[in-house]
Amino acid sequence: MKTIIEPFRIKVTEPLKIISKEERRAALQKAHNNVFLLNSEDCAIDLLTDSGTGAMSKRQWAAMMLGDESYAGSPSFHKFEKTIRNITGMKHIFPTHQGRAAEGILAATRTKPGNIVPNNSHFDTTRANFEFVGTKALDLICEEGLDNAKEAPFKGNMDIEKLEATIKKHGRENIPFAMITVTNNTSGGQPVSMKNIRETKLILQKYDIPFVMDVCRFAENAYFIQQREVGYDGKSLLEISQEMFSYADAATMSLKKDGLVNIGGFLVCNDDEWAEDFKNMLIMREGFPTYGGLAGRDLEAAAVGLMEALDPAYQEYRHATVEYLANAMDERDIPYVRPVGGHAVFIDAKAFLPHIPALHYPGIALVNTLYIEGGIRAV
Ligand SMILES: *Cc1c(COP(=O)(O)O)cnc(C)c1O
Repeated sequence: MKTIIEPFRIKVTEPLKIISKEERRAALQKAHNNVFLLNSEDCAIDLLTDSGTGAMSKRQWAAMMLGDESYAGSPSFHKFEKTIRNITGMKHIFPTHQGRAAEGILAATRTKPGNIVPNNSHFDTTRANFEFVGTKALDLICEEGLDNAKEAPFKGNMDIEKLEATIKKHGRENIPFAMITVTNNTSGGQPVSMKNIRETKLILQKYDIPFVMDVCRFAENAYFIQQREVGYDGKSLLEISQEMFSYADAATMSLKKDGLVNIGGFLVCNDDEWAEDFKNMLIMREGFPTYGGLAGRDLEAAAVGLMEALDPAYQEYRHATVEYLANAMDERDIPYVRPVGGHAVFIDAKAFLPHIPALHYPGIALVNTLYIEGGIRAV
């Protein structure tokens, strides 16, 4: 078996306190059995999310010092823009303070009450942003994506037939755009194939419907395509990402994911009219278009992080950590969503704890037990 070690050395440490089981029990009680309300200092191993929680590289920290904090036209923005244009090929690039801010601008400017936006699966913030403005967020995940135990290479795919049926049923005029989320976070971090992205594009093109991608884990998805899809094993992660983006008309991103930074997001598009709407809303909600709610140093760190996420050694290591955990679960017969996704192992709590009825919340029971027994904060 090939051994994969971390492709980095650790330069800074953060002290970690391990409290006793009794203290954890008391902390959880004080948090009303809701791990979101715990103090992070009371969580020895915090697996709540990887969103914005990672350590930055020395190149990112070095870039932070180059941050130019001018209100308008900062060179830090130009680096940010150039990097994102290289990866996405998009004409218009807007920074935002998080992914959900990009989604909020998209929902407010490009949808009307009563509209429908299909997606493979909407992330919870995406769904909330659409529902808030009266737009219906529709999930059209493929058949195998609905079966937790089934092994399939691309369980995050869009159901192409359901997509076309939805367009025919509701009418093109009620669908301002359709989306695909890579990787499909809501369905367990499952990847989407290039073939599925291409087929989605063809259907949307046929009905003249724009295609927006939620690309929070674009590098991770590119890695899955490289590993699993015929014709892509010789291509770099950057080339695969560029092809993915070539099918999209616009995209939203949380830089807290594959931007490898602690805060940030972006909204990109090709259409000039969309860009004008985005820009006006951005100025009201986020900031001037060359900083969009971020500091110059944040833009610098993200420009470096986006390229580092495309480093094959990093992706290989990342996937190895998830597989390591999955193998340990296999040895103990713990049921989880198969195969493991890109950024987490999703335990099937209902199957793992069959003696706990659904309305007694097996998921919460598992999360709370993990915390009390192991000091692990899961979600
Ligand atoms: C994290 C995430 C978002 C929201 O991004 P934030 O930066 O947390 O606002 C949207 N979509 C997907 C798929 C995500 O993983």
